[in-house]
Amino acid sequence: MGGDAAVDRLIALMARLPGLGPRSARRAVLTMIRRRELMLEPLAAALAEVAARVRECRRCGNIAEGELCAICADPARATGGLCVVETVADLWAMERGGAFRGRYHVLGGVLSALDAVTPESLRIPELVARASEEATREVILALNATIDGQTTAHYIADALAPLGVTVTSLAKGVPIGGELDYLDDGTIGAALLARRAL
Ligand SMILES: [Zn+2]
Repeated sequence: MGGDAAVDRLIALMARLPGLGPRSARRAVLTMIRRRELMLEPLAAALAEVAARVRECRRCGNIAEGELCAICADPARATGGLCVVETVADLWAMERGGAFRGRYHVLGGVLSALDAVTPESLRIPELVARASEEATREVILALNATIDGQTTAHYIADALAPLGVTVTSLAKGVPIGGELDYLDDGTIGAALLARRAL
């Protein structure tokens, strides 16, 4: 590429980001270098700060600057039920929709026999413990409408059954295999309002 080892390494790393490829990475890196004070230095500082401060929320798995994320730390969000999502991107999609005012639990994926994903690797035991400790009345499953997503939904409903928690699922309207992140905000709000018992 540029022939400079540090620049080539940066381009190779950037090219692995979603939505970028080698070509976009090269253009982005050249733009940053050309605009050192406006782009390169602020970006380097922002990356270093995120690397130093951002962690996984101890309670829900969202990203956090500190022990708890902003949602878990907000006492006003304590009574709205618990919404289970696959990824942080899905959590953010729900938040953009603005219809849900409770807290979240990020699984980190869905059960998959093919990929040997087990309940333990998905924070499902933590979910059951939380539902019990936080005296949760309703757990809303906002999982993608894939086979694995639905298998996971039923597994969670079974695991929560002894606690007497109401388990609901987002209404259909979430396209098969569609990810929450790609839905518009109104669709998410409608799916939440029309949720039903599992
Ligand atoms: Zn949290």
